[in-house]
Amino acid sequence: MALDAKSLTRDELAAQFLQWAQPAYRVDQVLQWIYERRVTSWDAMSNLPRALRDQLNQTYSLTALELVRKQGSRDTTEKFLWRLADHSLIESVLIPANPALYGEASDRHTLCVSTQVGCAYGCKFCASGLEGWKRNLHVGEIVDQVLAVERWHASESKGEPTERLVNNLVIMGMGEPLANYDNLLKALQILNAPWGGGIGARKITVSTSGLAPQIRKLADETLQFRLAISLHGATDEVRQKIMPINRKYPLRELTAACEYYQEKKGRMITLEYILIAGVNDSLAQAPHLAKLARRLNAKVNLIPYNKVEDLPWERPSEDVQEGFLRALEQHEVTATLRREKGHDIDAACGQLRLRTERELASA
Ligand code: SAH
Ligand code: SF4
Repeated sequence: MALDAKSLTRDELAAQFLQWAQPAYRVDQVLQWIYERRVTSWDAMSNLPRALRDQLNQTYSLTALELVRKQGSRDTTEKFLWRLADHSLIESVLIPANPALYGEASDRHTLCVSTQVGCAYGCKFCASGLEGWKRNLHVGEIVDQVLAVERWHASESKGEPTERLVNNLVIMGMGEPLANYDNLLKALQILNAPWGGGIGARKITVSTSGLAPQIRKLADETLQFRLAISLHGATDEVRQKIMPINRKYPLRELTAACEYYQEKKGRMITLEYILIAGVNDSLAQAPHLAKLARRLNAKVNLIPYNKVEDLPWERPSEDVQEGFLRALEQHEVTATLRREKGHDIDAACGQLRLRTERELASA
């Protein structure tokens, strides 16, 4: 299959146009069609000469994610299930900003994007890893999650086709982003570039289950992304019960890599901690977690576990959740507890795909 044009940087496209002896302004025209008007065919680029459109059409594809299913509502979260060219399914989740929480206007939106089909890391509580890993997403497939949601939004709202919707990105969908490092980085460069997605690097959070060497590599990149660590256990004993990766990169190594990131970037790291009843919610974990957070100058995000079909894990009661939060606060750690209701829409990534694949398999 031809290379997707959304996998190209401006420089790469410009080099091709130079080779074709096309004037430089044509490059920007093409980029405007792709990233501002979000068209999905070369034919639609009406200000380009026909011969150039044909040449582009023969050289590159301009595929668009196909919406299979959408769940949720405008004022909570909306979940998009996409079908890729090879029929694999992936998810993106659109989350309206909580103005009280972030002090932003309520027309701001965060998009949670996927980076792989499935996941190889097999965390015991997670739907994304349940059926293993299938493949890495290509650059264009990561980029198009943003464009496809904005395309959908423009067609729904009947507003200007160029209206921007997504201004925050969290790389917390299906897959382990740092295991698809090169494609992720290129996609984020494109989504960050002024000619591309125009999303500030500081508005992009990469979440990882703890690939220590890649965390160090990310620290050495020029772009200033935010980093979130899926910690979920503050001692090796607890963490490796639920996250196999902890055997490869135990907390000592993970913490050292985070320290390196923190020193290089001077940015605050977030430690994600899902509370799972009877697994990691004991108050005995709180001092360990607090110690790690203070050492890394990190804030802690407590997330009540979302029930996954077929998995035995449950979220603890609200009292236990609040108690855990208070214990962290007593250790002078900045922590938040996600309290929003309405988790019945499979809010954690991977779940809608899992359910759809099972429905398709049994149909
Ligand atoms: N692989 C990366 C990014 C994707 S997972 C990572 O693990 O960080 C995004 C977040 O959702 C992770 O923190 C993950 O642990 C969490 N998560 C997975 N399943 C969940 C569930 N059922 N309930 C709540 N959070 C979940
Ligand atoms: Fe993969 Fe992240 Fe899920 Fe673990 S939590 S299985 S690393 S997607």
